[in-house]
Amino acid sequence: MSPTAVRVALRVRPLSTAEQSQDQTQCVVCDSAENKLTIGINSNYRSFTFDHVLDDTLNQKHVYDTCIGSLFDKFIEGFNATIVAYGQTGSGKSYSMGTASDGVDPGIIPRFIHHLFAAVPDAQISATFLELHNEDLIDLLNPASKNISIREDSRGNIYWLGAQEQTTASPEQLLSVLHKGTIARSTGATDMNKSSSRSHAIFTVIMKRYISEEESSGDSATDNGGKIAHHLKQVESKFHFVDLAGSERLKRTNAVGDRVKEGISINSGLLALGNVISALGDDSRKTSHVPYRDSKLTRLLQDSLGGNSQTLMLACISPAEEDFVETLSTLKYANRARNIKNNVVQNFE
Ligand code: ADP
Ligand code: MG
Repeated sequence: MSPTAVRVALRVRPLSTAEQSQDQTQCVVCDSAENKLTIGINSNYRSFTFDHVLDDTLNQKHVYDTCIGSLFDKFIEGFNATIVAYGQTGSGKSYSMGTASDGVDPGIIPRFIHHLFAAVPDAQISATFLELHNEDLIDLLNPASKNISIREDSRGNIYWLGAQEQTTASPEQLLSVLHKGTIARSTGATDMNKSSSRSHAIFTVIMKRYISEEESSGDSATDNGGKIAHHLKQVESKFHFVDLAGSERLKRTNAVGDRVKEGISINSGLLALGNVISALGDDSRKTSHVPYRDSKLTRLLQDSLGGNSQTLMLACISPAEEDFVETLSTLKYANRARNIKNNVVQNFE
């Protein structure tokens, strides 16, 4: 994998009880061993391959173990990482991320939190939790605060001025920060008559720690007689967990008024994200221009997409036939993110 590559995992949720009772048929077939998925209705079908295809029988632990390992390892070494959950409302983004977790079978973030404190007990860990709605940034850890702005320092690091950064000393404390922000998000949504499915949520874990660098004090690194000195250097990295707004198209939701404004903002954010990710994976590009500035979402994630950072897109889909159109559109988006020509068997667009 090249350093800028974006990995794409595709997860299919099971049919819900309601869908089962309506005798909904499934329009996707997974071959998880081959990381291949075929979608179709009637005799029209199309196959896609991704880095991981996770069928509806695979549990949360499997998803974590399969998808997070390399991001986690690089993160604790000091590299930024980003996971974006993409898909239509109801496809399993929050379930997979673990923001809406009931604690029975926790998702990615709670697992990550326990993993992190166990792996680097000496690290300093803090977190921020932002919501992006209609290009407005809301601090979910301090919803009363206004005026959060995105800044870039001289080394190209992005930070958000005015957002609360909560320091945490245990997994329980960090989980309660996640919980607090999740509650603020759904309360705010009710107050403003907006669904949380129409905003992006960005939970960011920031780690600072000292790592030792072994250096030989002799003239050459192979000088066995040289004394080994341990130098400590501080590393700092960010891990963004992004639960994106529902990707469903405006038409389907019969949007009017404010909903239209929201829809335009969501679409432009998701489009910009798709363009950035696709530009990162495109080795044939002559220029290195990546259009981060096209949306607040991509600007916010600028130092954590591409470069030395690790990125995973978790595309979530419903298997139900009635969701065929949205599911196909998610597959196409995810396929474009991967920017590898799929060897597709295809007989429709
Ligand atoms: P989204 O965040 O994409 O709108 P949710 O994560 O809220 O969707 O999922 C919608 C519903 O489907 C929830 O009731 C959730 O518990 C259920 N669900 C989603 N994915 C799975 C899964 N892999 N296994 C079991 N239930 C799931
Ligand atoms: Mg959700």
